[in-house]
Amino acid sequence: MTVIDGVIEKVRRHDPDQTEFHQAVKEVMHSLEPTVERHPEFVKAKIYERIVEPDRVIMFRVPWVDDQGEVQVNRGFRVQFNNAIGPYKGGLRFHPSVDLGILKFLGFEQIFKNSLTTLPMGGAKGGSDFDPKGKSDTEVMRFCQAFMRELFRHIGADIDVPAGDIGVGAREIGYLYGYYKKIVNEHTGVLTGKGLEYGGSLVRPEATGYGAVYFAAEMLATRGEDFKDKVVAVSGAGNVAQYAVAKANELGAKVITLCDSTASIIDEAGICDEKWDFLCELKNVRRGRIKEYADKYGVLCVEGKNIWDVIREQGIKVDIAVPSATQNEIDGKNAAALVKNGCFCISEGANMPSPPEAIEVYQESNVLYGPGKAANAGGVATSGLEMTQNSIKMPWTREEVDNRLKLIMKEIHKACLDAAEEYGRKGDYMTGANIAGFMKVATAMLAYGVV
Ligand code: NDP
Repeated sequence: MTVIDGVIEKVRRHDPDQTEFHQAVKEVMHSLEPTVERHPEFVKAKIYERIVEPDRVIMFRVPWVDDQGEVQVNRGFRVQFNNAIGPYKGGLRFHPSVDLGILKFLGFEQIFKNSLTTLPMGGAKGGSDFDPKGKSDTEVMRFCQAFMRELFRHIGADIDVPAGDIGVGAREIGYLYGYYKKIVNEHTGVLTGKGLEYGGSLVRPEATGYGAVYFAAEMLATRGEDFKDKVVAVSGAGNVAQYAVAKANELGAKVITLCDSTASIIDEAGICDEKWDFLCELKNVRRGRIKEYADKYGVLCVEGKNIWDVIREQGIKVDIAVPSATQNEIDGKNAAALVKNGCFCISEGANMPSPPEAIEVYQESNVLYGPGKAANAGGVATSGLEMTQNSIKMPWTREEVDNRLKLIMKEIHKACLDAAEEYGRKGDYMTGANIAGFMKVATAMLAYGVV
């Protein structure tokens, strides 16, 4: 058995039910095969075995009281995966599907993503099976306070700096940070994604979506292409999707799709201008369903169906896809239909939206494929910039942050291509991202000895 197969097998054996985690480990570990031969020192120090085991997992009870006065109990988690190159850093997800396997997959991916940003950040992820949907603001506040009542003792500006993810946006970060500040009596950069008035960074809300489009633009440029007049499919309707749509519009493309967990919409005329404002108000303020967009603008809405199914079934042609909803959203069949209909660039705003069978389709068809850990790294990179501004106690201008974000995305793109070429997989962004992210962390782990 090879070193890599041994590691994958051990992970499977230890935690047989953590399927998303197995999927992420398998993908990363297989791309690291070429490093094994060149770095016997990593093998000897068991770096491959160590890197798949979190530094620690914190799991806790989150009791809170709903608006009816009933006690509710949720489960909270923080997976502090690896702090070899900097303090733990990674988002919090509030969604009923959250369990240890999902958070371990996200925390594991975060190690390599954070390393790719060129900033000193380790990998972590956390969250809860709490569902903010349908809850009042005061219920969300009480839950966030109960969650922070335990989390506060495990985090710190130089220890672990959480941020948002699915179900955790500006409102939740405000409640979480407000409570942390109250009980610790300290105003530090312990969370990112904060409001501008209390230590947030300009461009942080936009960063993941913008970054995924900047990354796509870099990939397109390698083939002499750009966004102008391209038709784009975006999934999701939340933070990442909204700003992916905005930036693609700005670069001259036409974005025609969106979805949430209840419906998918197709707007052939393009989701732009007043319609984009409506989307943001619908999702960020009224917290409504995407169907309302279709009702208001009279466009196609398919309830209960994933957008990639709708695109395949309706035979819709798109040039570029920016999946920005959730993991494993594009299956192999839908990936094949996308590519067959002319899609030649996929830039992942979401984490692991493409399962292995979809990635196989992209690789066989030679489409430009930017994996999440590279393409959506703009969010955490800008969180890193927020941490820097908090440390130096000086905010940067919008232009300064955006320029840094653009530069970081350019550097990530180059790092992926360089590593892919160096290890004999020219043009393979996935292998390049995994190897480039891994090398820095592995080298740091080796330097520390056996700890
Ligand atoms: P949000 O909660 O703001 O939005 C998520 C959107 O995806 C919502 O519209 C949600 O619908 C939809 N969605 C969730 N699950 C499904 C599903 N099974 N089928 C269809 N639609 C679904 O989250 P974000 O935009 O922040 O995150 C989206 C993705 O991007 C995630 O994979 C996240 O990990 C990743 N990401 C986010 C970063 C960030 O900075 N926010 C950074 C890097 C990656 P509904 O409203 O019905 O729940």
